[in-house]
Amino acid sequence: MAVYLSRGVLGFAALSGLYFGIRDGIFASSLSNNPAIVPPNSEGQEGYHEYANRMAQQLGIHKTIVVMKGNNFGHLGCNLFSYQAGIEIDLEASKEVIFHMIRHELIHIKHHDFLTWTMVPVILAIFTNFILNSRFPISASFIGLGLGIISFAMLRRWTEKRAFLTTIEHASRGENEAARDWVREECSGSPSSFQQSCMSSIEKLFKPSASEIISLYEDKLKLQT
Ligand SMILES: [Zn+2]
Repeated sequence: MAVYLSRGVLGFAALSGLYFGIRDGIFASSLSNNPAIVPPNSEGQEGYHEYANRMAQQLGIHKTIVVMKGNNFGHLGCNLFSYQAGIEIDLEASKEVIFHMIRHELIHIKHHDFLTWTMVPVILAIFTNFILNSRFPISASFIGLGLGIISFAMLRRWTEKRAFLTTIEHASRGENEAARDWVREECSGSPSSFQQSCMSSIEKLFKPSASEIISLYEDKLKLQT
């Protein structure tokens, strides 16, 4: 019974990792025909679409960047082969913060972070299960699942920190101050529902905390005075 249960849990974790990796990392179907897509600026000025694509070229990303309006900042469609990748932007934030976070998301895209987060833990979990299965048939699945989750958390934290550090390094003092204040404000509100508070405690396991991120900004700002 325990064997079937543990394999079921492992299988579910592996499949959901693969599912999200394939959906948002490989196909990213939401990148086309999506009403939230920010169109190119018709007045010949540089809007978010133009800015994202100019920055992508500077970073050596050979993809068309599709910018979408949303409630948060994120990226999708970041596989090795697709000709386009997406960035979701929060239009509630100031222009300075949006430009800053567009560059942050581009760093994730440049390093294929989405694929790393999903594929490495899944492969590790399956590989561990495969290696240990003949000797420890019951615990192999749990060890595989555990390693998958731990590696996901470590990779997620490491790549998130890298994206912040790289963006902070090349930003002006004023922009870093604005981004720091935005992070502070975003994280200061208390969660309004039970589900939200659960989500934020789960997120804490996988993402650097607000105070960690703020200290990255503070460290750079000390040097920029
Ligand atoms: Zn990020």
